[in-house]
Amino acid sequence: THFGFQTVPEEEKAGKVYKVFESVAKKYDVMNDAMSLGIHRLWKDTLLHIMNPQPGLRLLDTAGGTGDISFRFLEYTRSMYDRQQWMRAKSHQAPSWQDIADRYASDEAGPPQSHAVVCDINKDMLKVGKQRAEKAGITTGLSWVVVRYIYTIAFGIRNVTHIEQALQEALRVLKAGGRFMCLEFSKVTNPLLARSLNQYWVGICVKNNFEIVRKLHQTMCLPQETFKEMIEDAGFFCVQYFNLTGGIVAIHSGFKL
Ligand code: SAM
Repeated sequence: THFGFQTVPEEEKAGKVYKVFESVAKKYDVMNDAMSLGIHRLWKDTLLHIMNPQPGLRLLDTAGGTGDISFRFLEYTRSMYDRQQWMRAKSHQAPSWQDIADRYASDEAGPPQSHAVVCDINKDMLKVGKQRAEKAGITTGLSWVVVRYIYTIAFGIRNVTHIEQALQEALRVLKAGGRFMCLEFSKVTNPLLARSLNQYWVGICVKNNFEIVRKLHQTMCLPQETFKEMIEDAGFFCVQYFNLTGGIVAIHSGFKL
């Protein structure tokens, strides 16, 4: 493979990844909290803060699993819309042409509908996600199966068999100006933290029977600079990354121009 970090044989990888997520789908969300001490929630919130999506935007959430990124996206864009409405109501200034155009686009036609498409190879993960959406009362703005402006892949790229092809596909489906954003485990910068983290994970995984997930994870770590180069090689511009929690996780971002 491209940089030689992938040690699971290609022909086995897709089937293995499918089986792992099929077996953990029902306890996936609990497992995420246990394995990250709940910090995956902050990493996902940070992805949304860096993304800062505006109402009306469309998201393709690949490897979307049970919908964590899409739920946050809809909540963020909807609260952004409420905030904009509130600020407009408070303002006594004469409206600019831009205000009028915005008002026409939003008030008269109703709030601009943000939309997230959750895309995953595993029907069991999507099923759990749909149940979560129902429970949370999210009835609009969500579909579970293309799309153009922002492409996210959270904790998914390491599971993909041909990462270069996945990046090419991301570039293809995005419109010019669109942004690729990836949240993924990365290389911990502090060796002490790396060692303690490994010990914690071994303990928690053995205790809870998550060993298969840990083994899969161990074989597929994408160091920050390596992955940055891969995104650039795929044809994205202005590629940058942000380390979260000492590099346990990184957010990579690039634009299609
Ligand atoms: N994005 C969600 C999150 O952050 O909670 C789920 C991440 S979960 C660790 C990885 C997901 O990637 C699983 O639901 C798995 O089925 C999916 N997946 C693995 N390979 C894939 C592929 N080639 N295309 C689409 N989804 C894939």
